[in-house]
Amino acid sequence: IERTLSIIKPDATNRNLTGKINAKFEDAGLRIVAQKRIKLSMEQAGKFYEVHKERPFYGELCEFMASAPVVVQVLEGENAIAKNREVMGATNPANADAGTIRKEFALSVGENSVHGSDAAETAAQEIAFFFSGLELV
Ligand code: ATP
Ligand code: MG
Repeated sequence: IERTLSIIKPDATNRNLTGKINAKFEDAGLRIVAQKRIKLSMEQAGKFYEVHKERPFYGELCEFMASAPVVVQVLEGENAIAKNREVMGATNPANADAGTIRKEFALSVGENSVHGSDAAETAAQEIAFFFSGLELV
């Protein structure tokens, strides 16, 4: 059993899509074991996405992530990291498969509704970034 960090991004919280997105996770067999709605500062968004700091879209990405509340959550299940990324779909919604979250809800490659950890090591780091041990049962 594995855990991964998921974020429902501002474009999706603004459109009141949290429940529809969570239904996709649960239908895929992922269990939401922790969840909270927070508003990131520019500094916190910058730190979370530090791996992308040399990419041309970094500034835009941080501004977007700090523009409105996000829902951060821990998803649990068999192969949760890969399964979550499958349910999310490709980064660019134009390339996402039918039925995926990004195909159905994303507005653009930047405003693409969800984040999901990409490997076991980053999942552990990203979960610890948002949640304390006490919040994880
Ligand atoms: P995430 O890390 O959010 O789960 P991902 O792993 O599919 O998404 P990354 O390559 O890690 O994609 O990019 C991180 C985020 O940066 C993307 O989800 C998207 O919001 C933004 N992004 C990526 N590429 C672009 C781009 N070409 N233009 C604008 N924003 C982009
Ligand atoms: Mg990524």
